[in-house]
Amino acid sequence: MSPIAFIYGPMKSGKTARLIGDFYAFSENHRAMVVRPALDTRSPDDKVKSRNGSELPCAVFDSTEALAQQLDINQSEYLLVDEAQFLSEDAIMFLVRRSLSGLRVRFYGLMTDYRGATFAASAIITRFAGQLDPVFADCHCGQPAQFTRFTGESNGRTIIVGHDEHYFPVCTKCFLEAH
Ligand SMILES: [Zn+2]
Repeated sequence: MSPIAFIYGPMKSGKTARLIGDFYAFSENHRAMVVRPALDTRSPDDKVKSRNGSELPCAVFDSTEALAQQLDINQSEYLLVDEAQFLSEDAIMFLVRRSLSGLRVRFYGLMTDYRGATFAASAIITRFAGQLDPVFADCHCGQPAQFTRFTGESNGRTIIVGHDEHYFPVCTKCFLEAH
């Protein structure tokens, strides 16, 4: 198993449900921990919640120092990072270095924003991940969806937190037709 994996897909593709399942699988034989960068505010601070209703405790960090502290306190062998597209380059590189001394890192997040541009963090993670694992949602047309469409008011922003009702997973054809 590669020390670094990136599990990526559009909004509503079941990434968090996958994370929760992976956590239980790793926890059978290893110390595992779930973390999330502080930018995302959709869930309560100390939990990751999937759309099917399951949830897990989650440590939220706002700096690489805080992340390092959490890792040392928990002595984790497996680190599962939710909302990885919001990570700083500094935090990613810290985890890449930690993976050289045995830490297994699983990143879960979006590859592209609603305009189809790759998130800066996701591009860096992709560069270092030995395992790339795309997950797909269902487009309304029935095809596998790898993009996310945003139907609300963006006002030029790249990251719009919350407003889940305005995000829809779409296939390549439907994504291109909407742009
Ligand atoms: Zn479609």
